[in-house]
Amino acid sequence: MPPEPFFGGPGLDRADALRGQPQALAQLQDRPDALELVWEEGLPAIDEAGRLIWQPLAAPDLFLGLTDGAPRYSPAPPFEGDMRARFNALAHLAADEAPLFAAALSLASWHRRHRFCANCGQESASVRGGWSRQCPDCHAEHYPRVDPVVIMLAEHDDRLLLGRQPQYPPGRYSALAGFLEVGETIEAAVARELFEEAGVCVTDVRYLASQPWPFPSSLMIGCTAVAMDDALTVDTTELEDARWFTRAEVAAALADDDKASFIPPPHFAIARTLLEHWLSA
Ligand SMILES: [Zn+2]
Repeated sequence: MPPEPFFGGPGLDRADALRGQPQALAQLQDRPDALELVWEEGLPAIDEAGRLIWQPLAAPDLFLGLTDGAPRYSPAPPFEGDMRARFNALAHLAADEAPLFAAALSLASWHRRHRFCANCGQESASVRGGWSRQCPDCHAEHYPRVDPVVIMLAEHDDRLLLGRQPQYPPGRYSALAGFLEVGETIEAAVARELFEEAGVCVTDVRYLASQPWPFPSSLMIGCTAVAMDDALTVDTTELEDARWFTRAEVAAALADDDKASFIPPPHFAIARTLLEHWLSA
């Protein structure tokens, strides 16, 4: 079985067929079981048990889909949560609520950031229940963006390459990552990023798992690769450090051992999933 990172899973029935039917959408809004997400500090609100909070429908801005046949909506909140609010939320969010949290947050962020037509500059209007925007002037239709990011573990002689960015908490090391560029395959992006950031040449790039990352709209594409040798040339404009870690070091870190040589990424990061998968293989 491939591993399932946090934010993975089906979430809810997105009911795509209903989005193009304005009459059906209007009827859904009148249903007594229609609910909308509550937001707090620019993020979907979470209760003490890690569950999303719902209230009777007041602002049917975004039609998220159906839960057990009942319509679910989100208002489009006016601002985004700051970094601390995000990480507090992720630390407490129940795993089975995470896909819906991600979808609502990315969709709402997209509307806030993409009010105007990218083709002609006119203000566009939300259509299809909020799953696209249409320009009244040039009629171009725009869809919520997804920004692909490759994130990868390079392996050499049963050791893993991990790096740390200057803004990480002290001691933390994680998988290297970077945005996929236009005209590039996933495999080429993995090889390019590892060479640029750490001077490592790799072969045998394999896709492992993906993760929506709603800050605001990334798709993390988790991969593995085999390094041709263990020489490192770290690009210190991107990374503070990068090193090879043995299987025993990774095991100690994931077990929260006090004597571990590094602190692993948190449970909601796909980098953690990649480390756990490597260790179990
Ligand atoms: Zn336009």
